[in-house]
Amino acid sequence: MKKAGFGICIAALTGILAACGTEETTSVSEEEPLRILATTSQVGDMVNDIGGEYVEVETLMGPGVDPHLYQPTQEDIGKLANADIIFYNGLNLEGNMQEVFDNVGSETTAVPVAENIPEDMLQTEADSDSTDPHVWFDPDMWSYTADAVTEELSSLNTENGEYYEQQGEAYKNMLTELDTYAEEELGRIPDESRVLVTAHDAFGYFGSAYDLEVEGLQGLSTDSEYSVRDVDNIVNLLVEREIGAVFVESSVSGRSINAIIEGAARQDHEVEVGGELYSDAMGDAGTEEGTYEGMFRHNIDTIAGSLQ
Ligand SMILES: [Zn+2]
Repeated sequence: MKKAGFGICIAALTGILAACGTEETTSVSEEEPLRILATTSQVGDMVNDIGGEYVEVETLMGPGVDPHLYQPTQEDIGKLANADIIFYNGLNLEGNMQEVFDNVGSETTAVPVAENIPEDMLQTEADSDSTDPHVWFDPDMWSYTADAVTEELSSLNTENGEYYEQQGEAYKNMLTELDTYAEEELGRIPDESRVLVTAHDAFGYFGSAYDLEVEGLQGLSTDSEYSVRDVDNIVNLLVEREIGAVFVESSVSGRSINAIIEGAARQDHEVEVGGELYSDAMGDAGTEEGTYEGMFRHNIDTIAGSLQ
């Protein structure tokens, strides 16, 4: 491994070790980390947290990228083929990639983490039978995906199994704390204001978990169209319930949300953008919102702050 080799060479220069990079040095840090490829940033962040020092994670879909519409490039396909493990969300979130996952070579394992969630916890869209893939918005459900990651890393790298177990437990403790925070903060929203309107239906599990009525203009996938009638239905709901805020999503165009705001204005009902939520992508790397925990807290604070 490059990093360990560099350290040894420095030591050699200062005379502590006679040889540079000989086989005598067998510390754990010299092991090659597992090469992981993750599709969404939510999955990548989790694998990084659980795999820690023993994994090298590359995430295909960065900030603002919509997984429903994502088309893998030739370069991506090369990366997928070279990974030790591919972790992806599954449940058809990465709609254009399934064929690639099905055809990775026998050297690579492709794991759809969301498919480790018990089936009776999953929800389907009323008129299409499509399963809702946005499972990361219920920490309780997401904890099952952490189990899938822990199990897979441990089975491929048994000697560090105990480490992965501990990291997986720590990750799930973080999820429990996040859930408590969400319960407390969102619990303050008055009953009549508990309506969350967004561009697409990414918050179904979130709404079920925290008792919010959720309306997305587009369906479960951003590749679905919406009609004037869909806009009117949401506008009428906002007017009737006197809801004054709707939310834009970082990975979806704001055009549809503007149609709602303009429609409400024509009925003399003022609606504002309550803020930007992270739905299918997270924030920039290196910022709070560039982590799963940070983006979740951002959403909670934005929603609780605007629906009062
Ligand atoms: Zn989505």
